[in-house]
Amino acid sequence: MIKIEIPDEVKKLHKKFYHSRVKKALKSAIRSTQSTVARNIYSFLLDKHQKDGILTAMPKDLWGLIVQIQERFAEADIDKCNETLLNVFNYEQFGTGCSTKGTPYHEQYPQWNAYAFIKALKVTACPYCNGNFLLQIDIYSKKIRPALDHFFPHKKFPYLGISLYNLVPSCDICNSKFKLASELDFEKYLHPYCDSFHDAMTFCWLPNANSATPHVFLLQKNTSSGKAYENSRLFHLNEIYNHVHADTVRHLVYLREAYPRRLIKDHCRKLGCSKQNALKTLFNYDLTEEKINQQVLGKLTCDILKDLLDD
Ligand SMILES: [Zn+2]
Repeated sequence: MIKIEIPDEVKKLHKKFYHSRVKKALKSAIRSTQSTVARNIYSFLLDKHQKDGILTAMPKDLWGLIVQIQERFAEADIDKCNETLLNVFNYEQFGTGCSTKGTPYHEQYPQWNAYAFIKALKVTACPYCNGNFLLQIDIYSKKIRPALDHFFPHKKFPYLGISLYNLVPSCDICNSKFKLASELDFEKYLHPYCDSFHDAMTFCWLPNANSATPHVFLLQKNTSSGKAYENSRLFHLNEIYNHVHADTVRHLVYLREAYPRRLIKDHCRKLGCSKQNALKTLFNYDLTEEKINQQVLGKLTCDILKDLLDD
């Protein structure tokens, strides 16, 4: 819900493990094919790859690459190359935990894979809905990790299969039920590595005539919030927050109403602490906005209780 940053060392590591491998695989694909069109497609991708235009390119550049490829080559020709490209930009290898002994590629890549990538991002709440934990755990010798959503679906764009800025850690509901393999228009939807949903939209609430639970809804903060609005529709955020998270909404609104700012101020004075800390000790909620990606329902909490931080 806030913009995710990929640390520079993560990008370096990704390139260290995959740059030569992809280069080698593309060169081999160029040598092996009998088709001139396929050779042109692989050569085009090799050129882009050598210019660092694929593995660690920013989302807008990946979008630019998609557009260039679609303008330059016929869809049917690209489709014929899909299987080879799925092997070249091998998401299976990156995603299936080659750090576990006995699994393929362990000896080759003992440290770098999807598990290490997700860990490095320090995102533990789903960036699309902020309502589910992203569980990563080693249990009974089994490695469990959250889904990595391909923002631009990798079955359709196999050359973006292991592009870091195309891999968004997310919960299974957002990844498998709502987004599926939809081809998102980069101009229309908000990208978690480019924009902050939190800066674009805010949770508000209204009393509900038919229930003790207030009705919660997302409001656009400014006129440039259109992309965030589209995301809220795609991931059904209004419906989910009113149904699944209704108890939390009711509790937060109760706290907001029951603790006037004066009481928080008194608490701060008595404890000699900041308002952030006072709210943490009183409610066990951290209202630090930077932590929204690590706290389930962190955005809802920040938005409903934020008034209590004002003077
Ligand atoms: Zn989610």
